[in-house]
Amino acid sequence: MHRIFISDLHLEEPNSNSFLKFIELMKIVSTRVDEIYILGDLVEMWIGDDDKSPNASQLRIILKSASSTCKVYIMHGNRDFLIGEKFCDATGTSLLEDPYVIDDHILLSHGDILCTDDEEYQAARILFRDPSWQKEILEKPLAEREMLGRALRAQSTEANANKNVNIMDANENTIIEQLKKHNADLLIHGHTHRPGQYVNRIVTGAWEANGWLCRQKDQTFQLECFSLANHYGSETSHLDQ
Ligand code: MN
Repeated sequence: MHRIFISDLHLEEPNSNSFLKFIELMKIVSTRVDEIYILGDLVEMWIGDDDKSPNASQLRIILKSASSTCKVYIMHGNRDFLIGEKFCDATGTSLLEDPYVIDDHILLSHGDILCTDDEEYQAARILFRDPSWQKEILEKPLAEREMLGRALRAQSTEANANKNVNIMDANENTIIEQLKKHNADLLIHGHTHRPGQYVNRIVTGAWEANGWLCRQKDQTFQLECFSLANHYGSETSHLDQ
């Protein structure tokens, strides 16, 4: 089984280095791996499946193409929890619950549910994931949703600036609880922007200074870091394996 796991790309602009690298990654890996898992925050903001922005339109094309040669799974993050079945149907991708177990022992999560020290965020998360709140939002016109999305982003940035960075990391006890609850021995998640590979946990990195992915080849897991600047054959791609 050959899989890759990515998260926190925060795609926003089709001509950005991260978007161009994502296109390259999807083209290369979709023909070589069995499954691609996008563990949340693929985009900076998702305001509904009816979004016709260049970002949303380009994503539909890329994901549809990738899902024609391998399975592509999407999990919601805290930026794109409004991605719905309509988008998944149009792109041939499948939405996963958070958390989600694969191979009976690998637990996948976006990772925000692990940040239990941040009580303010956990309270907001309950609201954002409430189906009736989401329905109310999705009934608003696109332009209004976009404004609301930007306001929420600004609010969250401001709130996070005043928080101790440690409360925004995954809580050790919650990690252990989740592994136990799901009878898993490996947890793969993103969200915290603190990439790392540990005995029973792999944290995929945010695509900021560099890109990140976790590659699984049967029983071997490897966290890989790569440049976002080199894309479209500017050099022999690291991804080309
Ligand atoms: Mn996140």
